[in-house]
Amino acid sequence: MLRLNITRICLTLLPFVILLLWLGLRPDKNAERLNSYSSPKSLTDRLAYDNSSKETPDFNPNHKIVFPLVFPIKGMKFDIIKNIPDSRLPGAARLYRGANATHIGVDLYTGKCGLEVVSPASGWIISISPFEEFPDSRTRDSILKITEKAGFTPEPVLSNLHGISVVVFHGWNDAGEGFYSRLSHLERLSSNFKVGDFVNRGQILGYVGATGTSAQFKTGKEKESGCHLHFEWHVLKDGKDTVLGLKESDFNAKRNLYLQLFSP
Ligand SMILES: [Zn+2]
Repeated sequence: MLRLNITRICLTLLPFVILLLWLGLRPDKNAERLNSYSSPKSLTDRLAYDNSSKETPDFNPNHKIVFPLVFPIKGMKFDIIKNIPDSRLPGAARLYRGANATHIGVDLYTGKCGLEVVSPASGWIISISPFEEFPDSRTRDSILKITEKAGFTPEPVLSNLHGISVVVFHGWNDAGEGFYSRLSHLERLSSNFKVGDFVNRGQILGYVGATGTSAQFKTGKEKESGCHLHFEWHVLKDGKDTVLGLKESDFNAKRNLYLQLFSP
């Protein structure tokens, strides 16, 4: 009698045991989903928390730019440009890169790393330099000796000095001028996006850092004080690529040009 009951209980439980086994052995849907995120996918999908539009437009090389630009560091006001020292503007000397080397961006110092860096206008990512392994400070110094001797900064050296860097193409205005921005020294990129992805105006691209600079080898306060965004604004016109404000000899004129970019 007792044996019969045990058999009956076992038979009643059998479907549940099978169900539990199946639940335990079936492929993990969550894991599958996570894996699929590491494969190339649209940036707007992966940055859903940015409230990006669902559609990822195809790369449109004729895209129209929209001014004014959004200041590329979230939470900072664009009028800090009024007080940027000359040495952090385009055209300032960069003697450590050779006698004729000049700075071709605006250095926006933040006092700490990690602030959000956003795209100043919508557009397409056209270049990413994600240095995985930076040289140690001795190697960096040796690389810089090449520029001293050459008298200018060869492209691969410059690319090394930019650290983690993103370039976004923002389109054209009615006068036929094209625009792109470069955002450099990022601590890290916001996502595993790829060249060709569309980004919205104000969309987070990464975080302020010190990569590619001498500050990246420092620790604590010294590193924090070296954290900045190197922002370049390029204008394509008449077959030339020029950097806004590079040619102006007056540094106040340079500041005004950059203030105009962001002024409503
Ligand atoms: Zn710079």
